[in-house]
Formats: sequence, structure tokens, C-alpha cells
Amino acid sequence: MTAWLQPLTREKSLRPAEPGRWHSGLTKALFFQFLLLLALAPLGCWAQAYPTKPITLVVPFAAGGPTDKIARALAEGLRNQLPGASFIIDNTPGAGGTNGTAKVARAPKDGHTLLITHISIATTPWLYKNLKYKALEDFEYLGLINEVPMTIIGRPGLPPQNLAELTPWITTNSRRVNLAHAGLGSASHLCGLLLQQGLGIDLTTIPYGGTGPAMAAMLNDQVDLMCDQATNTVDQIASGAVRAFGVTADQRITTSPALANLPTLNESGLEGFKITIWCGLYAPKDTPKAITSRLNQALKALLADPVFIKNQAAVGAVSIRDNRSNSVEHRKFVEAETLRWGKIIKNSGQKHID
Ligand code: ASP
Repeated sequence: MTAWLQPLTREKSLRPAEPGRWHSGLTKALFFQFLLLLALAPLGCWAQAYPTKPITLVVPFAAGGPTDKIARALAEGLRNQLPGASFIIDNTPGAGGTNGTAKVARAPKDGHTLLITHISIATTPWLYKNLKYKALEDFEYLGLINEVPMTIIGRPGLPPQNLAELTPWITTNSRRVNLAHAGLGSASHLCGLLLQQGLGIDLTTIPYGGTGPAMAAMLNDQVDLMCDQATNTVDQIASGAVRAFGVTADQRITTSPALANLPTLNESGLEGFKITIWCGLYAPKDTPKAITSRLNQALKALLADPVFIKNQAAVGAVSIRDNRSNSVEHRKFVEAETLRWGKIIKNSGQKHID
């Protein structure tokens, strides 16, 4: 029997230790175990116990919107991949997603606070002068999750029935037509900006903490127009609760019956108008490698799950099935997207804010 499994006899346990000698076989074994754990710690072996408490998944937009929806689907799926894990969704909206992103940059580096966010991580560095994080330096990149086009939608009673009718109607009403979005640098803001430029019109813009509440405002006839990810508009388009004008993909979205008949903006006359919104998973920089690898494996297993793939396709999204689900390629992709959006934002003339 090994020393640390021997029963502790009264004699051994109570005898005072002689200076410079081991107190008992048990103590000696514990001491060596302790040394072993200390030696293994830098290799990340502590992560075997991960997670040890609920994982907070920060969504930097309001509840009910597309980022919130993919966060909830992801949390549900990851629970099956990480036995024993539970998730808390923490909606921290504001400033185009930068409030929630900053919160995760400063969170403990133990894998219990994660960020799910979209193109905001690549667009906002060009729009906010005093961001409290560096997007490419302050995070561990855990993998890209999905890609989804945007849809252009309008409130139910809006007079124009299609994009051809929308343009002249906006032109004659432009001072009174408004456009909801999720803050400077959000997908809906940038898509709306490019739409206005493409159509040569100027709308009044109304920011919300996310397109969840913006959609609620639209259904109540409080806003006229919005660009939003298909994942958040597909049900309302299917039921006729909103008017759909087009999709920002280069092809029609045939995977979703509700979107299949929606023309692309390109085919409706806005040549080359294509916007794809991607979402990724992040942890604070210097989260132990064993934890980030575990999360990445769990994410990749979920992205390969036929049910997850099918559910994403039904709402117009594509699960990432290429190497951008790996940390290195995810970061490279975001770096390239940051440069690409930088040029688009510069050309748009949109100004920085403090
Ligand atoms: N769809 C939003 C955006 O425009 C964000 C959200 O609520 O998920 O960026």
C-alpha cells in the first residue's frame, strides 16, 4: 500500500515531529503531492476542475436581439459539451457593444467570464477614441461561431411594398423617416449608414441598446426602418409582422423558407451591397491555455452538431465549419476584418466620438 493510503495510526499521528525529519509517511506524501501540483500548475493542469462555478457569458447588446439569441443557443449547446457547466447570460448593452466588451477585458482570467460579440469588435476601434481595451490584444480568441446576412425591414404599415418603392418614398419623406440601430459601430448602424449612402438619402437615426428593443419599437410603429441580422427578423418576416425589403447577401437565403423569396439588395439595384455579420467567442487575455483549449474544443464540437447547424440555417445563419473556429485563424480573421471595416468607415465619413 502506498504511504498516503496507509491508515493514520494514533501513534504516528500524535508523535511530535523530530526537527529535520518527516512527521509521518502521510505528511511526507502530502508534501510531495503539493510539490507536484505546484510543478504542474503552469501547464494548466488546474483546468481539469473547470468550470467550478457558472460561466457568465457577456452579451454586449440588449436581450432579445440577434447577439442575445446566438448567445442563448450557444450556452445551451455548450452545456452538453462541457458536462456540469451552467451559464448566466449577462446583457451589458451600450456604446455599440463596447461597454460589455470592456467588462470582459477586465474580468478575472479564469474562464468563468466570456464574451460573445459580433463585428463591433472590429468596427468600434475606428469610431470610439477612448476605448478601454485593445480588441486584438486584450482577448483570447476562442473561435468564430456563425455568419449571417442582414435584412432591411420596415414597420408593418409602411407604404412602400418593396425596395423600388422604398427609395422614392424615402426621398420624398426623408426628413420624417427614421431608422433604428444598436449604437455607433453596431451592425445595424453601419448597414443603415451604407444603405443611406447607397440610396442617397438622409434618415433620422435612433439608437437602442440592441435591436431586440428596436424590434419591439418597430412592432409598435415607433420606428420606420431597420437593418438587422436575419436571425432576429426571420420570424417577423415569416408572420408578416414587418415588411421585408431585401437581404444583404450575394445570393438569396434558400436555407430558410421565410427568407427564400427575399431579393438581395444587389438584385434590387444596389450593386455589390453585401454585408455579412459574424459572431465570435472570447475570454480575457491570459486565461490559462488548458481552459481556452477546452472551450475551443467544446465550441468546435457544437459547430459540427447537425442540430445546431440546422437550427442556424433555419434562421439564415451559417455555423462556422472552417479553420476560423480555431483561435489563431479567428484572430487573423478579426484583424483582417478590422482593416476592412476601417476603410469602409473612413470612406463613409462617419466621425469618431470620445
Ligand atoms: N443586431 C444588433 C446590431 O445591430 C446587435 C444586437 O442587438 O444583437 O449590432
